[in-house]
Amino acid sequence: MEPTQGQQELDKPIDVTSNRLVFLISLDQELRNDLSDQLGNYGFDILPFPDLEAARVAMQAKVPLAMIADLSEAHDENPMTLAELKLFRHQAVPVLIVSNEDGFLSRLQAVRFGGDFYFQKPVDLFSIVEVLDRLTDSLMPDPYRVLVVTGPATNNPSVQALDDSPDVSIFRLKGPDHIFDALLEFDPELVLLDLYYPECLGMELSAVIRQQDGYGGLPILFQSTETDPIKKGAALKRGGDEILSSSIEPGDLYQSIALRVERYRTVISQTVRDSLTGLFNHTTTRKKLETEVMRCQKQNEMMGFAMIDIDKFKHVNDTYGHSAGDRVIQNLARLLKQRVRRNDIVGRYGGEEFAVIVTGMDRDSIKDRLEEIREDFSNVVHSYLNYQFQCTFSCGLTFYPDHPGAQELNDAADEAMYRAKSHGGNQVQFRLPSTAGQ
Ligand code: GH3
Ligand code: MG
Ligand code: MG
Repeated sequence: MEPTQGQQELDKPIDVTSNRLVFLISLDQELRNDLSDQLGNYGFDILPFPDLEAARVAMQAKVPLAMIADLSEAHDENPMTLAELKLFRHQAVPVLIVSNEDGFLSRLQAVRFGGDFYFQKPVDLFSIVEVLDRLTDSLMPDPYRVLVVTGPATNNPSVQALDDSPDVSIFRLKGPDHIFDALLEFDPELVLLDLYYPECLGMELSAVIRQQDGYGGLPILFQSTETDPIKKGAALKRGGDEILSSSIEPGDLYQSIALRVERYRTVISQTVRDSLTGLFNHTTTRKKLETEVMRCQKQNEMMGFAMIDIDKFKHVNDTYGHSAGDRVIQNLARLLKQRVRRNDIVGRYGGEEFAVIVTGMDRDSIKDRLEEIREDFSNVVHSYLNYQFQCTFSCGLTFYPDHPGAQELNDAADEAMYRAKSHGGNQVQFRLPSTAGQ
């Protein structure tokens, strides 16, 4: 006997390792297919269910990132009731409710029964992606980048414990000598110093860091066995934020770091990030490209640099309006951010231009990844007001050390990108060094 559509969907294996698994419960098969396809393009693993019972069974194998529940037909034959949604709340699964009603009462009811978010049909994909992104981000924040200039007091079990935390990325410098290189290379969000080094005082070192352009607001913490309040006060005057005991509990040290870095991120985000997309702005992206080139040079690594430009974007603005264009830019920003790895860099290079820096992968893997992103983007249906439309982009890809500097990489990627445009767009073109041909 032919399996029914519902059974086929349930046969989809559950990827228990995925942290992007989303359950989708709806009687509306079209919505199930549609959202599965579209959210799939954004890197979410959608597991569609026709009813809550099936979802409940699946949840024993894996608790999803979120659940999208379509309550449109909740009143008649829909076996799912609002009350049943509470089951998901008990497992702390955020619930996104989709409904064709938009009255205050239906929203209130949804909130009462544990709905965290409410979307009216026809659903705006962008808003759903935004919520799911936020949920993913809160699960996987970027690790706090902490530079430790090791001295007697910073060489302690609490600092060592940070090595095991996935939320903290530690860079250790043996003594203050190479502090400038370390700042540039590692781009720390917090510096942890000892009060005393054989070469200099910790407070002198903090003053030197503060004098550097761009490091005036960088959080600097000290660790010390010092108990003399006068000496402690002097250290803080020269630019330290706080003096912690070298015997601080690991959890307390982590808390101090997290608090400072979170605040620092908020403060710098306005100058470093683009407000429409939250990506790095042009200046920051360029700086990061230079830093990455230096790092790759030192560590003898390769990296990919890609420039991406949306095809015929003027037409989008002219046909659907500037806000629809903004939406496309935001959608691509999201897709790019989701599809590269945590340590890769995505920037908004200009209006509808983006730059991506990928490290730690070989040429073929980088090419494949960009091809996948290109393909997925071309399948995304952008919706704005009543418009639904699709877009493509062109991409120019180059590699370090084929092109040995930031400017060379930039120029070559730009050239390859224009070649992609002249070949009709919606493609990735590579630029190898001129001696090897194109
Ligand atoms: P091509 O296929 O050659 O890339 O053509 P295009 O139309 O995409 O290229 P062009 O560079 O001529 O047009 C880019 C347009 O992007 C022009 C500008 O008005 C628009 N733009 C730039 N920044 C923004 C933005 O933040 N929002 C919106 N909606 N449009 C923007
Ligand atoms: Mg352009
Ligand atoms: Mg363009």
